[in-house]
Amino acid sequence: MKTIQNTEISWQDNTPYSKQFNDFYFNSDGGIEETLHVFVKPSNVLEHYNQKNKNFLCINETGFGTGLNFYCTLQALVAACNLHSSKPLYFFSSELFPLTASDFQKSAKNFPQFSHITEQILAQYPPAIKGYHRIILNSASVYLTLMFDDSVNAYQQCDHKADIWYLDGFSPAKNTAMWQPDLFYQVARLSQLDQTSLATFTSAGSVRRALQEKGFSITKLSGFGKKREMVTALYSKKIIIEEQPKPWFNTPVNIIAIKNVAIIGAGLAGCTTAEALARRGIKVTIFDSSDTICSLASGNLQGALYAKLSSKPTTSGELHLTGLEYSLRLLSLYHCFDKQTAEQCGVLQLATSHKEEIQQQDLVANDLYSSEVLKWVDAKTASKLIGHDTPFSGLFFPRAGWVMPKLFCDKLINHQNIKLELSTSVTNLTQLENNYWTLTSNQGDRVFDAVVIANAHSAKQFSQCSQASIKAIRGQVTHCKKATTNNLKTVVCGAGYISPPINGKYCFGASFNLHNAALTLTYSDQKNNIQNLQKILPSFSDELTFPDHLTGKAAHRCSSPDYMPQVGPVPIYDKFISQYQKLNKDKNWRFENTAAPNYNGLFINIGHGSKGLITCPLSAEHLASMMLNHPSPLPKNLSNAIHPARFVIKQLIKRVI
Ligand code: SAM
Repeated sequence: MKTIQNTEISWQDNTPYSKQFNDFYFNSDGGIEETLHVFVKPSNVLEHYNQKNKNFLCINETGFGTGLNFYCTLQALVAACNLHSSKPLYFFSSELFPLTASDFQKSAKNFPQFSHITEQILAQYPPAIKGYHRIILNSASVYLTLMFDDSVNAYQQCDHKADIWYLDGFSPAKNTAMWQPDLFYQVARLSQLDQTSLATFTSAGSVRRALQEKGFSITKLSGFGKKREMVTALYSKKIIIEEQPKPWFNTPVNIIAIKNVAIIGAGLAGCTTAEALARRGIKVTIFDSSDTICSLASGNLQGALYAKLSSKPTTSGELHLTGLEYSLRLLSLYHCFDKQTAEQCGVLQLATSHKEEIQQQDLVANDLYSSEVLKWVDAKTASKLIGHDTPFSGLFFPRAGWVMPKLFCDKLINHQNIKLELSTSVTNLTQLENNYWTLTSNQGDRVFDAVVIANAHSAKQFSQCSQASIKAIRGQVTHCKKATTNNLKTVVCGAGYISPPINGKYCFGASFNLHNAALTLTYSDQKNNIQNLQKILPSFSDELTFPDHLTGKAAHRCSSPDYMPQVGPVPIYDKFISQYQKLNKDKNWRFENTAAPNYNGLFINIGHGSKGLITCPLSAEHLASMMLNHPSPLPKNLSNAIHPARFVIKQLIKRVI
């Protein structure tokens, strides 16, 4: 069973009607007036936005549907406020049964006045993939996070408090499954006392009572049109007791308001982090010891942009698939699909062994993903897609492709808020008494509000990260002149990968070597890369003239023991051990919900292995949000899975420290 499925719409004239819930998505005449009357006006959206002590506005909604509430809210803000990227709107909306892109497009035709925004959404509209999908809109003054999941599941995974709630979704009588006590618990948990307001079209007694029980004071107002009543509410009493079983993952609260950030490392992790901060008005300086960006692992000519998935839903699969989708959106925002920087040409993951064939069959049989994400193809179809013969069947990922990381990063850091300082080796980081950070390099000392360490396995050179759990895995790619015959049409992965040619060359590999630290090219790895290519694409390989000299690039991938990135605050190792020592005795020990002992203002973004193209952009968006105390694009299960403190906690539980 797919983890999420698009809804089936029946159209009545041009108005979308839900067969499942027997109701219209919006009123065919007066839909906009109704939304303004029920949600936008009584929520005092403009007053909330204009509050001086705020640096963003956050609205949480249940039931995105066609997005009408979102468009009306945005239009009201744009018309009356100076909505800008340094004080953005975060709009979260859960949706268990998303419209298909074509139904979304058809529905949007009802609102030509919102076409500037519906067109931007359509260009980035996610397929039916369970999870959070952040979409950057309106010159980065708006972040729409669509959460394709049941409302309770979606909000259970959130940490941010909303300024405003819109409780939409079909009526409680037609949609009892959504309006359940757990939903109201989440609404209260994610509200701020005496500040968060709520609006809903329904005045059903069960909804009013549930809200009151969770601490909301209710006001009944007259409803729109024929509807007698509707409800607004204010969160005015803290009744619920919030559990935090893993306080070591608590979001850090900055002592200093961060405005000026140093990033160490100008690879994919550093450049994407710089972009996500600069986009929010933060001044960023990137330091790199090399004389060019992307000089190490991010410096391959091309990288495959795709997510390898397993036959069962896993946390890593969720991160990789939502990361791939986020990367695709960022690439498109920066106009990278020009066949020089990137190409969305599809990826074929061939099953080159019996074991892989079984795994792929299981994956397809489990029916977890829509055909927009992947489909199984036999060897004949695979050969047609590739443009050359292969003996193997495989999975085809039509949305995937390849990226030249350096050109992508060039585009990302071409921003007035980003300064690049190359040939600068940072040797030391010292926290001052006033919590600022001094960064010492061969160019002297500099002071910053916060520092992000994004220099892969070299992170360990800083005393604050000397305990980081990372290993370097050597990889070598091989370059080869393209033949005059047909080019490859897609990226092909087997043991290793090859992309369509760029600048007259094919780039293929990469080897995987834990035991060789040297970065000089080796004949054995080159031979191995060629043999792997000959296996998956025999006739294509026959047409190439493989080099008899060494050519390509070798670099170290920085990997974590669990092959997931490490993104977040830097834990103070010794203090973690003493604060959470009781885990040695009882892994379920309940600790007080206090701050975790992290370095204030020091963050890390490393461990992306060979998956940086799909994990760096989303990790950077998460890290920038965390650093500025903005809402994260990641659900809690994923932000915990990449939290740098997970290893010291695991070590305590396993009693190895
Ligand atoms: N706000 C929407 C708009 O402006 O178009 C209208 C929402 S429509 C009346 C209700 C939406 O709630 C539908 O898209 C439906 O699929 C969604 N929905 C229903 N049950 C849900 C649930 N348990 N969790 C999340 N969304 C749900």
